[in-house]
Amino acid sequence: MERETTTPNEPAGNLVDVAIIGGGQSALATAYFLRRAGINYVVLDDQPAAGGAWQHAWDSLHLFSPAQWSSLPGWLMPGTSEQYPSRDHVIRYLTEYEKRYEIPVHRPVEVTSVSRREAGLLVSTDRGDWLAKAVVSATGTWGHPYIPDYPGQGSFEGEQLHSAHYRNPDAFHRKDVLVVGGGNSGAQILAELSEVCHATWVTLEEPTFLPDEVDGRVLFERATARWKARSEGRPDPAPSGGLGDVVMVPPVRDARERGVLRSVRPFSHFTVDGVAWKDGTHAHVDAVIWCTGFRPALDHLRPLHILNDSGRVDVVDGHAMQEPRLWLVGYGEWCGFASATLIGVMRSARLAAMQINQYLNSLEESKP
Ligand code: FAD
Repeated sequence: MERETTTPNEPAGNLVDVAIIGGGQSALATAYFLRRAGINYVVLDDQPAAGGAWQHAWDSLHLFSPAQWSSLPGWLMPGTSEQYPSRDHVIRYLTEYEKRYEIPVHRPVEVTSVSRREAGLLVSTDRGDWLAKAVVSATGTWGHPYIPDYPGQGSFEGEQLHSAHYRNPDAFHRKDVLVVGGGNSGAQILAELSEVCHATWVTLEEPTFLPDEVDGRVLFERATARWKARSEGRPDPAPSGGLGDVVMVPPVRDARERGVLRSVRPFSHFTVDGVAWKDGTHAHVDAVIWCTGFRPALDHLRPLHILNDSGRVDVVDGHAMQEPRLWLVGYGEWCGFASATLIGVMRSARLAAMQINQYLNSLEESKP
């Protein structure tokens, strides 16, 4: 029988079978399967509204895949008039998804730590504590933007912004801007900025551009074929092309037509008002936009002492090796195949919910 879910205002130590930390797509997919199994759970999200990281993406961001290829378990993302759904469409979908499956999300509730207790894991937040028999961490990466070190960075007096905080080109009209990073964020932001300012694209090596007809759906199909072949010991059947390669979405294609989709190799160091290139020349720079990726947001797990040197947790299919009551869903390939994508997270979420169900049953069976 399901117990009533808790509210943030209740006294410390609310009891719950499962606490899911985070309220983005990974949390919702996991909630879907826990709900289906009749498991009592709460979702704790530090944002004021639904949508996870998509709320912070830049205004013009569109998915790489058509709507039906960007769906969470149970309910297809509704189609749009556009080929690829917008950021706002994804947020609306996630908001409706929460309502449709009556997912008990408490927000804004920031989880500050997870620590061990005999009866389970204590999830401490800025709105009280929850004692959970099992915990799912689904906090994503958007909260941990990564910026590489460059000599002289501290003395540079221009603006520095990570793509996590970039919204639109309004503030950059006619400025000298460096866009650093050779992935999709870099390509898309470069494409947009190049219409209003002097933008220079800095990448470690020449970016890999996918053929125009290859979108996120094709990449997912290829990656699935590769994953299946590997797990069955067969040779790789799919053509190369990874999820990190640049997808030629319409704004990037447009930049190519305008002849601005060109990149240069990194500068040697910052100066006060710009950068020095490796050939000894200098360029004035007003702003640098770092499109250099993210790291998993796992600070709340520090009290468990299970973060490894790369800031991750050692897992087998998302189950923490050093803490049997903890699962991680989302984040990246290390947590499960394509688990950081809308369509790919289903497999990881289903597996985590199944294992959690087995774990909770084993607790019941071991009761005297
Ligand atoms: P998030 O969406 O980050 O959600 C985590 C939630 O947990 C957030 O609300 C966060 O605030 C909250 N949280 C964090 N820490 C705590 C804490 N301590 N306590 C409580 N709450 C906390 N994916 C696709 O499927 N298709 C695409 O086309 C696509 N395009 C992309 C394009 C770009 C440029 C980028 C950068 C990403 C793209 N992605 C795409 C990937 C996708 O956006 C992310 O991987 C996705 O948001 C991850 O979902 P998540 O639920 O794991 O994490």
